[in-house]
Amino acid sequence: MLIENELLNNIENIYGKENRELVEKAFNFASEKHKGQLRDNGEEYINHPYRVAKILVETKADVPSVVSGLLHDVLEDTDCTEQELKSNFGEVVSNICVGASKVELIKEARLKNPDELENLRKMFLALGKDARVAFVKLADRLDNMQTLDKKDREKQIKIAQETLDIYVPIAERLGMNKFKHTMEDLCFKYIFPDEYAEVNKYLDENYKKSENIIIDIRQKIENLAKEYGIDARIQSRIKSSFGVFKKTRSKGRANVLDVIAHRIIVKEVKDCYTMLGAVHNLWQPVEGRIKDYIAMPKKNLYMSLHTTVIYPTENGGIPFEIQIRTEEMHIYCEYGMAAHWMYKEHGSKANKVDGNNAIFNMKKKISESTDKVVQENESDEFLQIIKTGFYDNKIFVFTPNYNVVELPEGSIPLDFAYAVHTGLGNRCVGAKVNDKMVPINTTLNTADIVEILTQQGKGPSRDWIKICKSRAAITKIKNYFKKEKREENIKIGKDILEEQARRKGYQLPKLLEDKETLTEVAVKYHLLGLEEIYAAVGYGGITASQVLGKFISKQQKLQKEEKKVALSNDNTTKSGDTSVIIDGHDDLLKKVARCCNPIPGDDIVGYVSRGRGVTIHRRDCATLNNLESGRIVETTWNKNILSEVYNSNFKIIAKNSSGVLNKISMKIADNKVDITFIKGEVTKTGDAVINVGVKVKSRQELLDLLNKIKSIPEVYDVIR
Ligand code: MN
Repeated sequence: MLIENELLNNIENIYGKENRELVEKAFNFASEKHKGQLRDNGEEYINHPYRVAKILVETKADVPSVVSGLLHDVLEDTDCTEQELKSNFGEVVSNICVGASKVELIKEARLKNPDELENLRKMFLALGKDARVAFVKLADRLDNMQTLDKKDREKQIKIAQETLDIYVPIAERLGMNKFKHTMEDLCFKYIFPDEYAEVNKYLDENYKKSENIIIDIRQKIENLAKEYGIDARIQSRIKSSFGVFKKTRSKGRANVLDVIAHRIIVKEVKDCYTMLGAVHNLWQPVEGRIKDYIAMPKKNLYMSLHTTVIYPTENGGIPFEIQIRTEEMHIYCEYGMAAHWMYKEHGSKANKVDGNNAIFNMKKKISESTDKVVQENESDEFLQIIKTGFYDNKIFVFTPNYNVVELPEGSIPLDFAYAVHTGLGNRCVGAKVNDKMVPINTTLNTADIVEILTQQGKGPSRDWIKICKSRAAITKIKNYFKKEKREENIKIGKDILEEQARRKGYQLPKLLEDKETLTEVAVKYHLLGLEEIYAAVGYGGITASQVLGKFISKQQKLQKEEKKVALSNDNTTKSGDTSVIIDGHDDLLKKVARCCNPIPGDDIVGYVSRGRGVTIHRRDCATLNNLESGRIVETTWNKNILSEVYNSNFKIIAKNSSGVLNKISMKIADNKVDITFIKGEVTKTGDAVINVGVKVKSRQELLDLLNKIKSIPEVYDVIR
């Protein structure tokens, strides 16, 4: 076959004899597989992969790319399996072909979810973790666009639109401007045929009109280079029709020379500046139109010097643009990242520019002068590919509805499930990848379609924390367990607080009625409410005292205020009575309890009554058992003030005889104690019970009196 020999001879010439055999094997393999298949335009199918390989050779792609170009359709359109490809052509080629076959999914997804376009482009770049997948598919698409004229109008528009949506932006991102412009012009031709014809007519006419000037310009630049001793080549080419179309839309048509781009390509960076000076000596530059993209590369790392100068004419001159760059910059401008994989040229052709070297120098340049730019654009896949050769840390997979989900490399279906929705992750019981059941720890690849099988009421397993790859999934699983334990913690915390409150003489629900303090505690410990406080106590994050302390001191403060209020409200009690010290205060409103009538020397406590001041009880008073323990305050007698007189009463049990009442009255009078009352009665058992009220100055005086009464023979007992 003639075309086959043409390719193989080319391969031998460019890539060396050792690669001819491999390319021939790939060609024969593809021919055999596609045998009998015809393209829409009636030609034999193999012609298409052949042309794709040829485009790749012209793009100076490396040997695995060219071989993959020949084989790119066998997986999709023939009975060839991945395994068969791998065993015949190795891992790299089969990986590129598998990646290439997945582009079909991206096209399908684009129709179902047009909003996902940007993610689909990222997915495209990540296919097979090898940017050569994109190169092969761009070459594939370029050939499809170049053979589009045989298809019907509807298909032409559909394919052209798809190219504009997906392939052109990919070419642009990879810096493959030659591909980009060629494809863009073809899209323009099929989508806007009238405008395309109009622009081309304009380009033709102006080229014809200005042909003499263009030749003159070229000649003058060549002479200039010679004059300055610079090794330079000049490219004068008609601009892309889509570019001109866009320019005329935005700026209107300026002049006849706008159709041509002049480029001066030199060896060294310093030659660029020499040529710029030389050009400005010959033609007058237009002010403000000199751009130094070498010192300040564009964001996409484009480097060149641009200037606009005036070509003199009878009418005063026509401005035209000149771009000046080195061979390395030029390769980069035309092929972009494809240069990364350019073959190393052989033997006698060593004087030609080496793509790898160009990229190496570009990387050096980037790290020297635009380190900041690269850093700021870390997310830019283009720069990432420049630094690493491919998208090395992300994968992009599909939901069953063709939504794109971005995940860290190495992710498993569980990572996917949690990325889609926490509930989907928690209920996950299995997964399907590309319609096949797989274990949930299967590593996912870009363009996989992942489906999660769920079961209601199912929770995650703690083992999942170890097998998940994404931080998001791990955090969500940990949260689930924290939350599950939380219910338990809340219960424990509540129990602890209730118990502690009881021990301190309070009831938890009553304390918690104080919403102000509840808020204070929550804010202090960064907790979101009562449940969180319970959980934190249960978990041991904070102690019960830390919580209760606040509430109790607040309660005590309130009680003190009540005491003060009681003081000012209670008119029944003498003010200025300082005989008793309550909680360190001797100025509080108080009165002695009638149930026990404490007198100085008695062990006493105070009881804070609501609105009636503090009542002083003897510590052993039985009444206290029925009162709120939280309102009892420590109280002592003021030892400095003992001059007052206190009422006290006691009960005497004695033999019921006629003289006993008199004997008791005499005894009290003997002790110089005033009697306030004395009242006797007889019990059912026949004993006499005599209640006596006295005024005493101290406990000692009372005790002496009681002892003396006890010494009366008829008295059985004296009870105070
Ligand atoms: Mn194809």
